[in-house]
Amino acid sequence: MNIHEYQAKAMLSEFALPVPRGRLALTVDEAVAATDELGGAIWVVKAQIHAGGRGKAGGVRLCWSKGEVRSAAEALLGSVLVTKQTGEAGKEVKRLYVEEGLNIASEFYLSLLVDRETEKVAFVVSPAGGMEIEEVAASSPEKILTLSVAGDQPSAYECTTIAAFLGLQGSQISACADLLTKLHRAFCQKDGSMLELNPLILTADGNLVALDAKFVADSNALYRHPELVALRDLDEEDPREVEASQFGLNYIALDGRIGCMVNGAGLAMATMDIIQLKGDKPANFLDVGGGVTVDSVCEAFKLLFSDDHVKAVLVNIFGGIVRCDVIANGLLEAIKTHPMRVPVVMRLVGTNEEEGRRLVKDAGLDVRWAADLDQAAEYAVAAARGE
Ligand code: GDP
Ligand code: MN
Repeated sequence: MNIHEYQAKAMLSEFALPVPRGRLALTVDEAVAATDELGGAIWVVKAQIHAGGRGKAGGVRLCWSKGEVRSAAEALLGSVLVTKQTGEAGKEVKRLYVEEGLNIASEFYLSLLVDRETEKVAFVVSPAGGMEIEEVAASSPEKILTLSVAGDQPSAYECTTIAAFLGLQGSQISACADLLTKLHRAFCQKDGSMLELNPLILTADGNLVALDAKFVADSNALYRHPELVALRDLDEEDPREVEASQFGLNYIALDGRIGCMVNGAGLAMATMDIIQLKGDKPANFLDVGGGVTVDSVCEAFKLLFSDDHVKAVLVNIFGGIVRCDVIANGLLEAIKTHPMRVPVVMRLVGTNEEEGRRLVKDAGLDVRWAADLDQAAEYAVAAARGE
């Protein structure tokens, strides 16, 4: 789960980490008022959306007067920002963060993530900050250091290694060690899966400050972080995914046109693969899960039938814990309000398959039956083409 930059920075300050002083603004007037509260003579108005690359897209504006803050806020609030990370549709800006402007001497890249190979928290650092780390990795990989923290917190040696790699000197080295220790603590205590400061800066007066912050919480650990759950911004999430999550469905929207309804994550992945093998693309990942009910299956079908991108639906159920009659009843329930507007291909095998097929057939539904996954994918791809 993602949170906003201003929320991530508030979290970092709880761990006594250095972040610029700032104010959240939901209106133009609030943005202007923030300049008085913050004082100083330079401010930065930053669009708060769950995506990076805002600087290049005009979503981060340096302002030298109140008037400039007003115009920046007017331009940004309600506008749709398209950055490298938002996709073509972009994201509407509904919140601004106004910060004191800082004098930047150098910009670094610093992130923490869970290194699956070492099963430890790793720091990824680079003296080439402010740029996309993927670009640095491609053009000058020697400028990136990945260091897995061996113990429960970064050792003095590990901290010095990182500080030296960033080219820090003198008192900045111990400031860096302090920063790394606190970042590691924050990351572990908050169950992060990613924490990225891009850039971490050295100010002209020699202080390290997190100028940008992105935090991704491990969704599996949210049950022990109600304070993070409270920061969830549903405006930033795909409405279809939000709806699906309310019914306990594992659903992820994708950009293809074959809607998938599958039980089991592995089978759902295999179904997506075989659709691609047959020459088309899945519109979603959907694992209805073992604890599925007629209601949740019904919601899943409604989600697929109301998605304009979906040109055919492929139902692939290997009934074990999930019963085929539950799937069939979910479909019958869904079509009461959401008629089948696209062809549906069904492969139902396993527990109560006879019953499931009988229910669909008795209802007179125009469903194409497939004997196995290969055939089901072929039928679905053909159906999406209008064949
Ligand atoms: P992103 O583009 O979405 O990653 O947004 P960032 O928060 O990283 O901001 C983009 C860039 O704006 C930074 O890399 C800085 O160069 C610049 N910037 C942000 N805040 C300040 C500031 O206080 N002073 C100055 N001079 N530049 C800033
Ligand atoms: Mn950034």
